[in-house]
Amino acid sequence: MRLASFDGRIHAIDGDFDDPATRASDLAALTGLSPDPVEFLAAGGVEAAREALAAAPPGRPIEAFRVDPVVHGPRSVWAAGLNYRDHAAETGQAIPPAPALFTKSPGSLIAHGASIVVPPHVEQPDYEGEVAVVIGRDARDVDEAEALDFVAGVTIGHDVSARDHQFVTGQFSWSKSFDTFCPLGPVLVTLDEVDVFDLPIETRLNGEVVQSSTTAHLAYSIPRLVAWITQGLTLLAGDVILTGTPAGVGVARDPQRFLTHGDVVEITVAGVGTLRNPVVRHGPPLPGS
Ligand code: ZN
Repeated sequence: MRLASFDGRIHAIDGDFDDPATRASDLAALTGLSPDPVEFLAAGGVEAAREALAAAPPGRPIEAFRVDPVVHGPRSVWAAGLNYRDHAAETGQAIPPAPALFTKSPGSLIAHGASIVVPPHVEQPDYEGEVAVVIGRDARDVDEAEALDFVAGVTIGHDVSARDHQFVTGQFSWSKSFDTFCPLGPVLVTLDEVDVFDLPIETRLNGEVVQSSTTAHLAYSIPRLVAWITQGLTLLAGDVILTGTPAGVGVARDPQRFLTHGDVVEITVAGVGTLRNPVVRHGPPLPGS
């Protein structure tokens, strides 16, 4: 099943997000459950929706809607650093001995198509395309072997990063949590439609491919991350995990390439879709630009 949030309400869509013929069905109207994506997932809405959709009339064209992040207001957004072997190598670092986890503020979430707004004091804004997962039911102390049972599905995350601040202290969370620094979506695809162990991911900057890899190259797999994070804390339905970025980020290129006003970043995960966001930056020109 392919899920998206339109006008604040969770919907099922019957095709690709970029296809104007794709239609969306309001799952709250069909199931009687909450339209809020987090509450819908927590109530086991996906299974209820499968039955309801089988008997439902065609939905409305998706162009009639305003798209939101696939979840809004999750309690937590976790992210893994240095989780692709090629990305660790390009930064001259070893794969960490355990998942290198940090949080991004849930307040940094924005929808597909919304602008990434870079604050004037940020001189090194950088892109990071990532496969993201959304938790489907509350998870605490889960085993790796059963971890995927707690995942609602896969979506696309953009871990926008202010490198100049990130590297000053080595603490990532603040400099990756600025408002608009976490585009998410537009579609959440359930695990029966994708292979989380070999999901191709590609990032394009103004149409040029800058990152290309697959989750087969993750040092810590998606179920391993879920299992690890839940040792001691509870992930709630609707919580988001960004699973790390592959090689090709702007700070590691020669010459370095940071985001500038007017850039467009597209991240495509095969079988899921494309997350596209323009960049807005007002203020003094960047050094070297
Ligand atoms: Zn990242």
